[in-house]
Formats: sequence, C-alpha cells, structure tokens
Amino acid sequence: MSTSSTSLQHAQALDEADTLAGKRDDFLLPPDTIYLNGNSLGPLTRRAQQRTLEVVESQWGEDLIASWNRHDWIDLPFTAAEKIAPLIGAAPNQVVCCDSVSINLLKLLACCLRMQSPRTRVLTQTDNFPTDLYVAQGLESLLGPARCELLAVAPDALPEALSEEVAVLLLTEINFRSAARFDMEELTALAHAQGVLVLWDLSHSAGVMPLEVDAWGIDFAVGCGYKYLNGGPGAPAFIYANCRHHGTMNSPVQGWMGHRDPFEFDTAYEKGAGMAQFLVGTPPILSLSALDAALDSFADVAVSDLHAKTMALGQLFAALMSQDEELSEFTLESNADAMLRGAHLAYSHPEAYSICRALNDAGIVVDFRSPNIVRFGFSPLYLRHVDVWRAIQSLRHLMREKTYLEDEFTRRLRVT
Ligand SMILES: *Cc1c(COP(=O)(O)O)cnc(C)c1O
Repeated sequence: MSTSSTSLQHAQALDEADTLAGKRDDFLLPPDTIYLNGNSLGPLTRRAQQRTLEVVESQWGEDLIASWNRHDWIDLPFTAAEKIAPLIGAAPNQVVCCDSVSINLLKLLACCLRMQSPRTRVLTQTDNFPTDLYVAQGLESLLGPARCELLAVAPDALPEALSEEVAVLLLTEINFRSAARFDMEELTALAHAQGVLVLWDLSHSAGVMPLEVDAWGIDFAVGCGYKYLNGGPGAPAFIYANCRHHGTMNSPVQGWMGHRDPFEFDTAYEKGAGMAQFLVGTPPILSLSALDAALDSFADVAVSDLHAKTMALGQLFAALMSQDEELSEFTLESNADAMLRGAHLAYSHPEAYSICRALNDAGIVVDFRSPNIVRFGFSPLYLRHVDVWRAIQSLRHLMREKTYLEDEFTRRLRVT
C-alpha cells in the first residue's frame, strides 16, 4: 500500500485528523457531487433549510405582519451581522447586513468622498472585481471629475499611487480570478499614513480568511453573504464601519429603514444611530433568515482553523496537480505559497470552459472565469481531503479520454 503524499490513504489520514470534519453534517450536499464552488455559491445548510421552511410556513404563513415584532424580523439585519462580526475581527455594533455588495460599495464610496472633501480621488486596482470598478465609474460619472476621480493602477503600483490627493483606497483582499492576496494590514497602514481612508471588499475572504478589521484599523469594508458564508443565492451582503467613523459618516442612500425612527413617519430624514443608517428599504426576511441560520455553523469554530484547513486542501490539490504528467497542460495562475492566496486555486488551460463543463457533468462542481481559467474552491466546512483526491482522479480521466471535446461542453451557457 502506498503511503506517499499523493495516495488516497494519505488523504484519508488527513481527514481522520481533521478537527472540522464533523461540520460536514451541517450541510445538505447532493450525492455523488464534489462541490469545489463554495467561493461562488455556498451550499445549503440543514439549519438554513429548516429556518426557511419555518419562516415561510409559520412566521409569514400564520403570524403574518405580527412577525416583525414577534419573531424579531426588524432586528434581523443586526442579528445576522453580529454573527459575522467575530469572523472578521470586529467588536459588536459595527456590522449590518443589507443590500448587495455593489449597492453597499456605492453607499460607502460616496460616504468616504464626503468625509474626505476636498480630496476627490478614488484609488483602486485595475484587476478589481468588475462590480467594484463599475460602481466607482458610475459615481465618477454622476459626480463629475471635480468631485470624484477614479484612478486604477496595477496592484504593485498601489503604494506609489497613494498620496494626499487620494480620498479612499478601494481594494479586494482576494482576487476573484487568481486568488492573489493583499496584505491588508500593511496597505491600510500605508494609506493611513497619507490620510487616506480604506474600503476593503471581503467578498472572497469572509468565512475563510483570518481577518482583524478592528486591530488593523480598517475604516470600512463590505462582504458577500452567499459565498463562504453560505447564506443562499443573492443573500444580503454586509457592511463594516469602524465605530470611530459613526459620528461623521453619512450614507447617500437615505431610506426609511435607515431613519432614526422609521415608524414616526417624519417628512425630514434624520439618520439612524450607528450602522442603522446603512439600511435603506424593508429587509428581505426570507434571505436574511437563511443567512442568519447558515451563520450558526460558524458559532463554535476558530477562523484560524478554517484558514489552516483551506490551505491544507489547496496544497494537497496543487501537489496532486503538479505531480501528474497527464495534468501538465494546466498552468497554476495562483501564488504557489498558500499564505499569499485565498481559498481557491486558478488554473489556466486553452480549453478551460469545456473542461469546466465536462467536470461539472462528472459531478465535480467548479467554475470558469473568462478567458481561460478554471477555479477550484476549497471551502473548509464541508470538504474532505478525499474529495480533493477524487476530484483529481476525475480530472485525469477526463483529460485522458478527452470527453471535454464533446459538443455539448463547448457551448457557452449564460451564467459561467
Ligand atoms: C462576489 C463578489 C461581489 C458580489 O457583489 P454583489 O453585488 O453582492 O453581487 C462583489 N465583489 C467581489 C470581490 C466579489 O467576489
């Protein structure tokens, strides 16, 4: 029996030693599926399923509008947020769940520009997630160059581009394509030295990367509810605002739910205290309930353990890929050092799209990112080392048989 680091036995031994192994039981994973796509859409937890049924049938179905008070629907944006706070290193009362990451970016960018007047520059990375760039471009065209000027530079040019003209530095910790990781603490300190506010997008970080937003002095952050946090498709996103800014920040999207007292129905807007001002309209209770329930899977785990496991899974995958002659056509586009990347691995291949479709067909769920990347995500709560080992076997088989060349796999679907 082989006991080398590429054997099934080795993967099984790693699973036996895995302190997070029991967490897999929290999830309802389809049979014969290895889900390496938790970085795009986290899977369904038993708790979220149960809670959704209860909210629909009993709370909405029977208690109707009384549920806003009886089942504390009105507090849900904060209840869920307080479960996210420890995952990002935030003390209480600095996080709220609402809207999408895109909308929250708009609120916070406008907020930062107002706080930093007369500074007008928004500095970001050219390879940022498109929505981050689009929102900043939209704000620039709305406000005009005299009040908002977007400057996007390559990641390694960022330190040099920081100056006293920059109002806000907008960055994403983990690159959605390559998984490249920024040193958040270092860049935040560099920005602060120039009086620049920092706004971090933690969409590919929350629930898997070790974050210390308070200790690092982060000003603002946003993050995604439906990726590693498993909140469900289109789950509300979150906003973090450091409490030192609560007195001076002003969201530009003034809705009644962000009012100091929505049920006074005042005609004049007065912002709510703390994080409340970031609420806009009525919270989506079905989605928020699913997110709130899913977050309970994190209640008793240390983020450092999640990060250690995702690194171990990724390292095993990378080792198996690199040692296999049949997989030599794939090029690793992520940093080879697990500390310098997020929780997925990006490999390029000229036939990436068809390979991705054929893998999905074989029950190995991964995704494709244009133009030639296959992403393999290693969400630590439910994946086993043997899943990684099996995924590699499927990939080898597919490459050997060239099944990915079949017509049905080359046709582009609308969502990749
Ligand atoms: C997934 C993701 C988003 C998603 O934004 P939504 O508006 O919530 O759809 C934003 N930024 C990054 C970096 C992401 O990875």
